[in-house]
Amino acid sequence: MQKKSKESESVKVCIRCRPLSTGEMNAGHTVVVEIKNTGEIFVKRPFTDEPPKQFTFDAAFDWNNSQQQIYENTSAQIISNVLEGYNGTIFAYGQTGTGKTHTMAGVEDDHKQRGIIPRAFEDVFKGVQSDSVKTQFLIRASYLEIYNEECRDLLSKNPKKKLDLHEKPDSGVYVKDLSYFAVKDVSEIREVMNIGQKNRSVRETMMNAASSRSHSLFTITVERSEIGADGKPHIRVGKLNMVDLAGSERLSKTGAVGDGAKEAAKINLSLSTLCHVISALTDPKATYIPYRESKLTRLLQDSLGGNTKTVMIANVGPADYNYDETLNTLRYASRAKNI
Ligand code: ADP
Ligand code: MG
Repeated sequence: MQKKSKESESVKVCIRCRPLSTGEMNAGHTVVVEIKNTGEIFVKRPFTDEPPKQFTFDAAFDWNNSQQQIYENTSAQIISNVLEGYNGTIFAYGQTGTGKTHTMAGVEDDHKQRGIIPRAFEDVFKGVQSDSVKTQFLIRASYLEIYNEECRDLLSKNPKKKLDLHEKPDSGVYVKDLSYFAVKDVSEIREVMNIGQKNRSVRETMMNAASSRSHSLFTITVERSEIGADGKPHIRVGKLNMVDLAGSERLSKTGAVGDGAKEAAKINLSLSTLCHVISALTDPKATYIPYRESKLTRLLQDSLGGNTKTVMIANVGPADYNYDETLNTLRYASRAKNI
């Protein structure tokens, strides 16, 4: 058995397969995906006798796994580390329609169907409350979108404004002029998320850019100040990044030409850079990590690798007609993990 490096422990790659939709069932589509609770997934090429292809990940979830199980098994530990002052990042990857937004945001007014982001809100403020006697907390939220390698603030009154990335020697890469809202409870941070989501759909109409082609990044910064044995305040800061990535479907399928093709190339660039970064982080022999090659990885540089925890949830659909894209996603995810 391969001995895992410390880095590979801090980066996890998981698979999630959604159920067959009613439409797919009515159209007579069949399920070509099988998942074992050992992290194995089998996919069978439809209408052939080929043996199924097998992949293994840190964990694999199917349509029997609830939103709560996904949260507990992929994200809960990251949130408690963030409360202790470490950074953590959660990605949802996959073809459009496979459940990225369901996994990250879920259904807001259905308690059971809430996704990782609203569950993280609850746990952050539970942690704050249980520690509030000896510790002071400052919780801030920001919400941005990266589209065509351009960064925009989802909480700004001027959502068309492009923001630049800057770098300071002591604090690293940051987004200049990005809004941060200080929030004191779950209802306030939910409000912040709702404002951002509203802006996201307004902008979509305005700029004719579907959310499937942009990455959205919701960040919670947890600053804790404790009086140490020396009688002085000690400050620790942890950052939690939750990313709903752009759809990973290939150019050929969307049939894009001209501007569309340029846009697709940029989306592919940031998704492939992310794969290279994660794979370099889990490869003990890697000497170079290409953070700077895309906006997203540059922005998340201090939250990937090192002392941080990262999980990627790669989402797939179960149906026969998605076979090629499902296989692409599984290949991407196993490349990320150097499997
Ligand atoms: P994406 O964000 O990747 O484009 P969505 O999250 O919008 O995909 O999911 C597409 C559809 O499938 C939505 O109607 C969503 O409610 C449904 N869906 C996705 N994952 C699940 C799941 N695990 N269980 C039930 N329905 C799901
Ligand atoms: Mg989505």
